[in-house]
Formats: sequence, C-alpha cells, structure tokens
Amino acid sequence: MSVNLQTPIDYLKGVGPNRADLLRKELGIHTYQDLVNLFPNRYIDRTQYYKINQLQRNNVDIQVIGKLIKFEEIAQKRGKRLVASFQDETGTMELVWFRGQKWIRESLKLNTPYVIFGKTNWYNGKFSMAHPEIELKEEHEQHLRSAMQAIYPSTEKLTNKGITNRVMTKIMQQLFIETKGKFTETLPEYLRSELKLISKSEATFNIHFPKHQELLSKAQFRLKFEELFYIQLQLILKNLIHKSKIKGFPFLIVGNYFNSFFKEHLPFKLTNAQKRVLKEIRHDLGSNAQMNRLLQGDVGSGKTIVALMSMLIALDNGFQACLMAPTEILSVQHYNGLYELCKELKISIKLLTGSSNTSERREIHKTLENGELQILIGTHALLEDKVKFKNLGLAIIDEQHRFGVAQRSKLWKKNTSPPHILVMTATPIPRTLAMSVYGDLDISIIDELPAGRKTIKTVHRYDSNRLKVFRFIRDEISKGRQIYIVYPLIQESEKMDYKDLMDGYASIERDFPKPEYQISIVHGKMKAADKDFEMQRFIKGETQIMVATTVIEVGVNVPNASVMIIESAERFGLSQLHQLRGRVGRGAEQSYCILMTSHKLSNDSRTRLETMVRTSDGFEIAEVDLRLRGPGDIMGTQQSGVLNLKIADIIKDNDILQLARHHAKQLLKADPTLAALENKSVLHTYRQMSKYKNIWNYIS
Ligand code: ADP
Ligand code: MG
Repeated sequence: MSVNLQTPIDYLKGVGPNRADLLRKELGIHTYQDLVNLFPNRYIDRTQYYKINQLQRNNVDIQVIGKLIKFEEIAQKRGKRLVASFQDETGTMELVWFRGQKWIRESLKLNTPYVIFGKTNWYNGKFSMAHPEIELKEEHEQHLRSAMQAIYPSTEKLTNKGITNRVMTKIMQQLFIETKGKFTETLPEYLRSELKLISKSEATFNIHFPKHQELLSKAQFRLKFEELFYIQLQLILKNLIHKSKIKGFPFLIVGNYFNSFFKEHLPFKLTNAQKRVLKEIRHDLGSNAQMNRLLQGDVGSGKTIVALMSMLIALDNGFQACLMAPTEILSVQHYNGLYELCKELKISIKLLTGSSNTSERREIHKTLENGELQILIGTHALLEDKVKFKNLGLAIIDEQHRFGVAQRSKLWKKNTSPPHILVMTATPIPRTLAMSVYGDLDISIIDELPAGRKTIKTVHRYDSNRLKVFRFIRDEISKGRQIYIVYPLIQESEKMDYKDLMDGYASIERDFPKPEYQISIVHGKMKAADKDFEMQRFIKGETQIMVATTVIEVGVNVPNASVMIIESAERFGLSQLHQLRGRVGRGAEQSYCILMTSHKLSNDSRTRLETMVRTSDGFEIAEVDLRLRGPGDIMGTQQSGVLNLKIADIIKDNDILQLARHHAKQLLKADPTLAALENKSVLHTYRQMSKYKNIWNYIS
C-alpha cells in the first residue's frame, strides 16, 4: 500500500512534534502532501568547486576545497569573532564565526581537507565566508549528491531552530524514502504524450533532486502546467455548471426602446469595440443561461452607453433594470446622464441613494414593486431589503472593485430567479490575471477609445517647481479650462492627510484669490449634500478649480476639465493614478496630467511615475502594477487561486497558463462530466482537490 499523502507531517521519521510544529507555523506544512509541494526557490550547482583565486566579488553561493591553517580570536565591539585562515593551492581566504565559536574550535581539525559552502564576501582586501557549511572532504565524497541542490524557502525562525537547508533536504529525502518516490499520476496519458510531459513521479523527484538542468526544466514545466491546468479546470467547470443550472430570463427580442434609441438618440457613433461588446451581451441575454459577465474597459472607453443599451434590451422584454455605482457622486452623475439620454424614450428612471428622502423612497419602493419604475440607479442603497423589484431582469454594477462579493450576491437574490449580471470595471487587470481570477465570469473588453481623443500629456514635477505649475494653471484657466487638484487620503493616516488637504486648499486660495477664481472642495468627511453642491458648481463651470481627495477617482465626467494635478503622487498606486488621470481628456481640448512629488522617491515610486509618463494604456499600466506589487494586492485576487500558486508564476508563466486553459477547455468540451475512462486521473485529482482545499470561494 502506498503512503497516504494526507498523513500529518509529525509522522515522518526525523520530524517529530517540535519540528512539525515549526514546519506548520513557519511554512504551512501540515501533511506529507504539503511537503511534496514545498518547491525550492532556486538551485545551486554542487558539482562545481572553486579555487580561491577564481573567486569573484559577486556574493553568490559557492564551494571550495581546502584546509584550515589557523584560528584567531578577534575582539570586536561586543564579544569577539572567530576567524580561520582557509587555504588551497591557489590562495587563502577567511572563514568567520560570530556564534558557536567554542564548538567550532573544538570540532574542526587543522590541516585536514574540508569542503566549505556559502556566500563569499569581499572585506578588507580579502575574501571571506561567514558561518559556512563545512564538511570533511572524505565525508563529502561519500554522499550521493545531485548536480543541482535545491534551496528551500525558509524563515529566520527555522534557521535559528536548526532547520537549515541541509536539514530540510534530509527531511525531503526521508519523504522520498517513505513514499518510495511514487506519486499518483494526475494528468491523462494522452495529454502527457501530446505535450511531452514527464510523469508525476519523475517530475516530483527532479524538482527536489534534479539530475541535471534539462530534467529540472521538464519537471518545472510539467508541474506548472499541472497547477495552472487544475485551476483553469475548476474555473471553467464552475462556469459550465453555472450555465446549465442557473436559468436566466431569455430576452428574446430587441425591440422599440433599443432600436429607436440606436436610430434616433445615440449621440455619437459607437466604436467597433462597443459594438462587439454589445453583441456579446445581447447573445448572453438571448440565451437560456443567466449572464454573468465582466465588462472591462479603460477609463473613458464608453462603458456607460453599453450599460444603457443593455438595460434597454431588458426593458424591451418587459423587465426592469438597475445600475449600482459605488459613490453618491457617481450615481448622481449616471442618473443625470442617463436621464438626459432617455428623455425622448419616455422611460421611467429614478435615483436612489443614502440621501434620498422618505417620500422619494416610498415612491420608489412602490413603483418598483408594481413595475411602473423601469430603471433604478443608485448606490448601496439598492441593496436594502425594502428595495423589491417586480421583475428585475438585469443588474449592472459599475466599478465593481469597490463592491464585495457578498454585496454582489445580495443583488442577485433580489428576484425569484437571478437577474442577468453585468459587472463593469475600469481598473484593468491584465488579461492573464483576469483569466485566472475571473475565469468563471465571461469577459468582454472595450479596447478602443472613441475617435478624436487626444493623448493626455503627462509630466512629473517636483514640489520645488510649484510656481511654474501654478503659472500653467492660470494660463489654462484663462483659456476657459477647469483644473483638478487631488490629494492623497489614505485611511490609516487620515488625520494627517486631511491636514495636508486643508493646508493645500489654503495655499491655493492664496494663489488663486476670489473673485477672479472660484474653488470647489470635495472630501470624504463632507455631507453628501455638500459634496454634491460643490461637485455641481464645478460641473456647471461656476468654479475653475476642484480641490479634492480621491473621492473623485471613479467615474466623474466633466469634459471641460483639462488639467489633473496629483499632489504627493508618489503615494498613489498605479491604478489609482491612472484612474485619476482618466478624469481629464474627456473633451476636445488637449489635456494634461501633472504628477507632483517631493525629491525623495523610492525605486518603486520612480517606476510608477515613469510608467505614467510613458504610457496611457491601462492594460500596460496594469501589467507594471502587477509586476511591482505581485498579484496579492490587486483587486479581486484575494478570493482566487492565483494567490496560492505554489510553483507557477502568474506573470512569467503566461504561456503555460494559456496552454493549460486551452487544454482544460478542450477536455471539458469533449468530456464535460469527466466520465471518460481516459480522464479518470483528472476526475480523481479534481475530487481530491475539492475535498482538501476550499476551492469554491471564488466569485459567484
Ligand atoms: P467609462 O468607460 O470610463 O465609464 P464613459 O461611459 O463615462 O466612460 O464615457 C466617457 C465619455 O465618452 C462620455 O462623455 C461619453 O459620452 C463619451 N463616449 C462614449 N462612447 C463614445 C463614442 N463612441 N464616441 C464618442 N464619445 C463617446
Ligand atoms: Mg464609468
């Protein structure tokens, strides 16, 4: 019988309760399986030995054969260090110990061949190695060692408690002894032969004990493929199950509302991307399955009109529709815009937010339930229990990253049968990541901006250039333009940020005095009504400058605003900077974005600023963001498997991801229930995964 990989790690010979505890706490290793999946960070070549005169000042791990010539104790500030001269036929270097000196002196022999291993330092004109791994040459030669030695992830605590890489390697060897190195195959034979993938057992062995570079590469490829393949399989399967189980309302016709809007009231020509996306949505709405679609489009790409036209299809089929936005400002703006667009269509459309008064609410609740109200726009207020639709056919969520999963599913439950869902986001996440994170949603992308948009000129300026920047603002205002000045407001340090904002406001008031200049201010601490008042003054052109925190980040549309100044730009993340910049460049005028910073910039800040100056492509920016931050911080990834990737790298292994997705799709197309004999291993693996991992907490 083979060893059960779910066996607790305590049972592995040589581990015991103390080490098991450490492994659990430090590396999350609970079972044999977890240990198998502790993949090395890197490998070092232990067949190669360096001569001392070959050493380079590059601080890498190397090994050297030589003899200890003499020990010396050197006093230092606190305590002393033990230094040994280590010699081979080409030269001398120093070995240094700061701890355990007594034991070292007593156990190491002079003038006897040793093999030392570690990182070299160049210090005081000499090479030295601190706390080397050291082993008698004779013993060293008795070990069977693979060419490449795995270096495992570790922590300070593990090292301090004596679980060095060497110990880790021994534990791993023991695992292979107990399991006899036999691991259940997880990929079907036909797939392995088509893709020339080595077996699970061979890959597992070679990832830990690579025989040579080529086998290591094959092992890595096979295991990365496997990992991505199963994530994709789960996501696609979930999507399929969803489609077959959850019936939507088929919107069979495209009728009067849609057609007359399209023919008579559309204020511009749709871009090809908008047309394509509308077609995709129409197709979903017309099918029997419930739509669950993510619409991605860069800021200003024109998602709102797509939302409206989708809602008109719902109305054409006798259903209601709603549009939920994350902020009051944005909801109001959507409402005003859509109200204007639909005026001629005689549609009943209402706005519901936290500041709607009781009688407005009552009216909305009533007409919503009796079906008179056709389109409802609003904030979270839409989620309240009192909000009951007669027949909600389509729910649209704008800027979805502001809403949690729970909130979304609440909307979903507003009907006996779930409405079609369209989620819109302007925070582009790289396509590859979208595929892993939202693999269970269908994705539409508007990858084209309306014609005639001028690229926003983006520059980076230091605070010391403020006078010039202010002069520029004055010029723009004299041409009739409007200006945004945005301050960071980050929750933890809210008080300080608030002070920055107010100081900034005061100084702008000094430089742009009334009555010549009028200034609006909007921040999170203001009452909704005051915010709206200030916002409206700016929208109407009564004020030329809008001083704000990031509350204006999403969605605000003032085409006459042509300059976006971002204060302390180094403190903003890339996607936020991109969002903010998207507030300008909406009209016919040349627009500008000025990123103000102090002189003190970290490398990451510099990269962010350079990226903003270089490109305005939201997807490219998202890629850089992903590289800088890793997937962990990107919206939406928290719920997904990408965070827990053990061996694949979501950025570097993009090709493998595509390949894995392709094959997962094909497999499910041919065998949707995984019933075929040839897919037995897939079914088995899939069941194991569902059993031991909570893989179902993806978005639904
Ligand atoms: P976002 O995708 O950021 O939500 P919006 O829907 O707010 O973008 O559209 C941005 C601006 O572009 C709006 O003023 C809108 O009227 C305009 N717009 C949208 N589609 C087109 C188009 N096809 N041609 C010209 N202007 C368009
Ligand atoms: Mg929008």
